[in-house]
Amino acid sequence: MAMLVFRTPLQNIDRPQMDADVVIVGGGPAGMACALRLSQLIDEHHAKHPDAQLSKENIYVLEKAREVGQHCLSGALLDPRSMRELLPGFEKEAPLDAQCNQEAVYFLTKSGKFKLPITPPPLRDHGNYVISLNKFVKWLGGKVEETGITVFTGFAGSELLYDGDRVVGVRTDDKGVDKQNQPKSNFEPGYDLKAKVTILAEGTRGSLTKELIDKFSLAKDRNPQTYGVGVKELWEVPSGRVAPGEVIYTMGWPLTTKEYGGAWIYGSKDNIVSLGFVTGLDYPDPRLDPQHVLQDFKQHPFIASLLTGGKMIRYGAKSLPYGGWWAIPPVAGNGWMILGDSAGFLNSQRLKGIHLAIKSGMLAAETAFDALQKSDSSLATLGQFQKKVDSSWIKDELWKVRNFHQGFEKGFFAGLFHAGLQQFTGGRGLWNRYPAHAGHEHMEKLSQLPADGGAEAHLLGPAKGDGKLTFDKLTDLYHSGTKHEEDQPSHLIIHDTNICNERCAKEYGGPCENFCPANVYELVEDASQPHGKRISLNPANCVHCKTCDIADPYQIITWVPPEGGGGPNYDGM
Ligand SMILES: Cc1cc2nc3c(=O)[nH]c(=O)nc-3n(C[C@H](O)[C@H](O)[C@H](O)COP(=O)(O)OP(=O)(O)OC[C@H]3O[C@@H](n4cnc5c(N)ncnc54)[C@H](O)[C@@H]3O)c2cc1C
Ligand code: SF4
Repeated sequence: MAMLVFRTPLQNIDRPQMDADVVIVGGGPAGMACALRLSQLIDEHHAKHPDAQLSKENIYVLEKAREVGQHCLSGALLDPRSMRELLPGFEKEAPLDAQCNQEAVYFLTKSGKFKLPITPPPLRDHGNYVISLNKFVKWLGGKVEETGITVFTGFAGSELLYDGDRVVGVRTDDKGVDKQNQPKSNFEPGYDLKAKVTILAEGTRGSLTKELIDKFSLAKDRNPQTYGVGVKELWEVPSGRVAPGEVIYTMGWPLTTKEYGGAWIYGSKDNIVSLGFVTGLDYPDPRLDPQHVLQDFKQHPFIASLLTGGKMIRYGAKSLPYGGWWAIPPVAGNGWMILGDSAGFLNSQRLKGIHLAIKSGMLAAETAFDALQKSDSSLATLGQFQKKVDSSWIKDELWKVRNFHQGFEKGFFAGLFHAGLQQFTGGRGLWNRYPAHAGHEHMEKLSQLPADGGAEAHLLGPAKGDGKLTFDKLTDLYHSGTKHEEDQPSHLIIHDTNICNERCAKEYGGPCENFCPANVYELVEDASQPHGKRISLNPANCVHCKTCDIADPYQIITWVPPEGGGGPNYDGM
């Protein structure tokens, strides 16, 4: 029986040290916008004070993907507001595929569709741009590198460095560690980057961010963060099916009133269509499979009519934080700041976070610049970031939807009622602050659910796929281009596998097999186990969506970065 060995920091290793002014962990829209704004501020300062000492040489961005943008997956529709502030006139050179010129919202039943007579204001997208976040971030990353800031690709932030209650930098991942967590002949220890300011821009459910939130109890007094997982396919379709700039949202089928979620279809250029389904990670039935949900969705006659005869060219999945304003932790402390999805700056009503991630990056850059000038990166200076967020349009936008997702905790119809009420009361609804429960608390045990799945039956278990319109998980996964060094310890850390084998196999039937969109988790036959099954892992399949870290009902899974460079290859996503 293969023993599972998990990635844990190697002890008693001499690690190279590097001094840094600012280290930004994560080169997505938030991290790249932060780096670019910081560079602009330094340039402006030098123009006014030619003999100033500030330099860009010691500003680093760490990105775990082999190339910038390769782990970036989004819808994506870009609200250009923050980009216009960061780089006025950016439209002339950025990779924008189409501008939204028509939008529609449908409620689907199993075979019917009802178009909402008017598009609800939050889903009006005229003027927003259809982009590939992968291409967009690559372009933004190029701009950052042109300024002289170093982007280390293939390097993950694997641990935070502390001095008492201060964050004093980041340790990068050890390279060349074998399956038994032992150094190989090509072993290279991670660097200790000692930074005056450490900025966490890791995106959804950041692994260092999670550690920081736990260490300093930053989530106390906040609503628990809640999440959805978006499963996406990129299609090339026969011409005339979805126009460039056409935007379609759907609610309803295949979900029932017990699950939260919906789909998007965005028309890009060259007959490329981005489509995907976001399923709230607060569904009750542990057998539900979000990749299956997308396959069901595509079989709806309306959706099938758009895709039939086309070809699926790319697949991926990623979680997104839904919790809104009340779930955002304090975003600055001694030596650190948190940006973008890592903080939870996402408007779940609009399915948009890119513009907020960028804006948060800009505000953090202004704060970091101040800190460098004053040589003070304590809370007294970095706390300005919190104040800047609170007085910016980030708060204006998120405050209006502060209770949106919580309104759906009791199901779809209650959600519509609350959303309607909130629309007329500036986001308040019945209470100023609606409470929330962590999504995994909604998961029910098999003994509480109908054995045949009842109304949810069609969403449960693995999708079979016909190889044309629908796909099983492994076929889809193949289209994510995922690759990892195989000889390394598992970066999915299960803190107690006895719980998987002795309790979960019976109580929930192994929901990880279902919620993981990449077939990483398997319950394999093992007669020596009480329920005849044992947990087994294929970490090399992981697309870094973080769903397991979020949705596991016992909360015993921790995602940590694998050896830098490994992961999906989200070209065009
Ligand atoms: C399915 C889906 C559809 C969406 N649709 C839209 C849309 O249409 N419009 C919109 O505006 N928003 C949309 N969003 C939200 C939007 O994509 C996010 O809000 C946005 O990408 C957040 O940017 P970020 O920089 O905070 O994080 P990310 O884009 O996630 O970038 C984080 C980066 O950090 C890297 N990283 C993470 N951890 C580490 C580490 N420890 N060390 C080194 N590197 C690390 C990652 O590899 C990644 O490159 C969607 C999200 C999803 C999942
Ligand atoms: S193992 Fe976890 S993070 Fe990786 S693809 Fe599966 S659910 Fe996502």
